Amino acid sequence: MQVEYLIIGQGICGTWLSYFFQKEKQSFLVIDDKQENSSSRVAAGIINPVTGRRIVKTWMIDELLPFINNTYTELGNELGITAISPKTIIDFFPTPQMRFAFLERQADEPFLQIPKSENDFRNNFNYDLGYGKITPSFIVHLEKILPAWREQLLTSGKLSEELFDLSQLKITSDKIRYKDYAAENIIFCDGAGSLSNPLFSRLPFAFNKGEMLLIEAEGISPENIYKKGIVLAPYLSKNLFWVGSNYTWDYKDDFPTKEFHEKTELQLKQWLKVPYKILDHRASVRPANVERRPFVGMHPVYKNAGILNGMGSKGCSLAPFFAKQLADHLVHDKNILPEADILRFRKILSQ
Ligand SMILES: Cc1cc2nc3c(=O)[nH]c(=O)nc-3n(C[C@H](O)[C@H](O)[C@H](O)COP(=O)(O)OP(=O)(O)OC[C@H]3O[C@@H](n4cnc5c(N)ncnc54)[C@H](O)[C@@H]3O)c2cc1C
Repeated sequence: MQVEYLIIGQGICGTWLSYFFQKEKQSFLVIDDKQENSSSRVAAGIINPVTGRRIVKTWMIDELLPFINNTYTELGNELGITAISPKTIIDFFPTPQMRFAFLERQADEPFLQIPKSENDFRNNFNYDLGYGKITPSFIVHLEKILPAWREQLLTSGKLSEELFDLSQLKITSDKIRYKDYAAENIIFCDGAGSLSNPLFSRLPFAFNKGEMLLIEAEGISPENIYKKGIVLAPYLSKNLFWVGSNYTWDYKDDFPTKEFHEKTELQLKQWLKVPYKILDHRASVRPANVERRPFVGMHPVYKNAGILNGMGSKGCSLAPFFAKQLADHLVHDKNILPEADILRFRKILSQ
C-alpha cells in the first residue's frame, strides 16, 4: 500500500490530523492499536478558558475558542453526532483565598461571573463558601468522536488496527517503509508512546498520570461542570458523570490506584448530597511537557518524520488547531507557530 502519510495513533491528535488530511484530499493510513486507557479515552473532554490558582486565561484561548467551536461542530455534523457542548463551570470555592482570587479577577475577566444568588445548588452539593461561574466552557465528547471517526476510517480502508512496531520502520531521505506500506511521510500522534521512540524521546516531555472515576448520580444537571478540588463533569448519557483527577509525576505503571479511589470517594461523600454509585475507575498517562507548549512539526534531520504531541491536559483545545497547522505546513508549506514548532528543539533533536 502506498500513501502520502502514515499516521501513528488515533487519539484526539491522530483524529484531527487525519481529518484535515482528508479535507485536503491527501492519501493516508492511520495505524492504531486502540489502547483502552489512552489519554484521549480517559479524558473528561473539558475546555476551560481559565487556569491555575490565579485564574488566568488559558494560553491562546481567545483565538482557540471560535476555531474549536466551529471545527468540532463541523466534525460532529459530518459524523452525525454531538461533538461539542457548551457548559458552565460551577466553581465552588474550596478556600476563602480562592473566593477572593475569583472576585478580584472577575473585574477584568469576562469568562468569570459571580451569580446574584449562590444558593442554586444547595439541594445536590455541600458547599460553604459560595461559587463563581466560568462561561463559556465546553465539553468535547471524546467518547463519541473517537469511535465514530474510527468507524469512518475503517470503512474507507484508512485505518489499520495493529500495534506499530518501530523496529520495522525504515526511513530514507525520500521514502518511509513500514512492513508492506510505503509513504512519503510518517507522523507520530502516539501520545505516551513517543517515550519509546528514539526519534522524538529527547523532546522535554513531562509525562504524568491521571485517574478518574465514572459515577452514576441522580438529580444533578448535566448542563454544568462542577468543581471543588475535584471535577464532576457530565459523561456520555444521563446521570453518568466523570470525576477526577490527579497529577502524579512519579508513577510505576499506568494502572488505577487504591489511593486515588479512596481519596476521591471521601471527597464525593463530603461534597454530594445525592446518592451515587461508582461504576468504573480508570487511569492514563498525559503526554505533557516541561514548557506546556505542544510538539508540532517535522524532525530537523529525518525531514519526512513528524510529530503532533505534547498536548498535556489541553488536548481537546490544542489538537484541532495544531493539527490544522501541521496539515497546512505539509500541504501548503505554511509556517507552524514558533512556540509549538519542534524546530525550537533543533539542537537536541539533531544530536
Ligand atoms: C485523567 C485525565 C483527564 C484529562 N482531562 C482532559 C480534559 O478534560 N480536557 C483536555 O483537553 N484534556 C484532558 N486530558 C488530556 C488529554 O487526554 C490529552 O491531552 C490528549 O488526549 C492527548 O491526545 P493524543 O492524541 O496526543 O494521545 P493519546 O490519546 O494517548 O492517543 C495516542 C493513540 O496512539 C495509539 N498508540 C500509541 N502507541 C501506539 C503503537 N505503538 N501502535 C499503535 N498505536 C499506538 C494509542 O492506542 C492511542 O489511540 C486528560 C488526561 C487524563 C489522563
